[in-house]
Amino acid sequence: MTTTGLTEYVRNEALRLGFLDCGFARVRHLSEHENFYLEWLRKGNHASMEYMERNIDKRLNPALLVEGARSVVVFLHSYYPEKELRTKYKIARYAYGEDYHDVLKDKLRPIADGIAQHVPNVNQRIFTDSAPVLERAWAHEAGLGWFGKNSSLIHRKYGSFFFIAVLITSAEFDYNSPFCGNYCGNCTACINACPTKAILTNRTINSRRCISYQTIENRGEMPFELKGKFAQNIFGCDICQEVCPWNKRSMIHNEPHFMPSNELSQLTDKALEQMTETAFKQIFRKSAIKRTKFEGLKRNISFLDTTNNRDKE
Ligand code: SF4
Ligand code: SF4
Repeated sequence: MTTTGLTEYVRNEALRLGFLDCGFARVRHLSEHENFYLEWLRKGNHASMEYMERNIDKRLNPALLVEGARSVVVFLHSYYPEKELRTKYKIARYAYGEDYHDVLKDKLRPIADGIAQHVPNVNQRIFTDSAPVLERAWAHEAGLGWFGKNSSLIHRKYGSFFFIAVLITSAEFDYNSPFCGNYCGNCTACINACPTKAILTNRTINSRRCISYQTIENRGEMPFELKGKFAQNIFGCDICQEVCPWNKRSMIHNEPHFMPSNELSQLTDKALEQMTETAFKQIFRKSAIKRTKFEGLKRNISFLDTTNNRDKE
């Protein structure tokens, strides 16, 4: 198969399988991101996520992750749901369904297998936020969008409510040019709406102030200075995406594995407040929410409750 034929094959398969879009970038060392990333780390903006300090060379150069890598193929998959959960407590939309790491890997496997049939001895790996890969930088490199002021990758047609999955492969394709331009313009809606003022001026996030980090990754105490600012979020936070004008175009997904289970759809505020560890393990057994663990979810809810009680006093 020709390079053009292989490119068309992958694109058509991706769209057929329900991905929003895909793009193709040639492997290179992302040297222009190096100082930017190191500076972000140096300022401690990764908070307690020490794993972000490791494998920096691999983050910047996919050839160190996959031997013989020539291409990074980037796939976007919507997680925007048709309906929101009915609880007052908010869970980020990406976590409504089954854990995306597994779902996306399963969806991409047939594409990788298809490439392997056409390219003898191809060497490749699928990454779904599961290894040191700068997914958004590669999505930009593959022509799929720009870095919004809220640090999300924004697609002109589909906004930002999507997962980014990556296939690093020794196969070659017709490559896209990096996305040209930035369409945030004078808008500052995300910066104004962020309840904890976590968005920095250089299109990055100070994780220490970000609700998403605090409710998912932080294993310790919540910072006292953020009390009263979590806007009912108990797992993740979508606020800086909800207010983005480019998300008026969000495409509702139709992936059954990303639909909330009946148990989650029917969850009430009371059930969340009184949840036992057994119920947590049952309801969230396939969900990314299990990352925060039972104690984490309880802590997140009580952080809001304490805040609300104080507000009423
Ligand atoms: S996810 Fe929430 S807390 Fe974090 S930057 Fe966006 S609006 Fe702010
Ligand atoms: S809300 Fe406005 S500034 Fe923020 S990412 Fe969207 S377009 Fe850019």
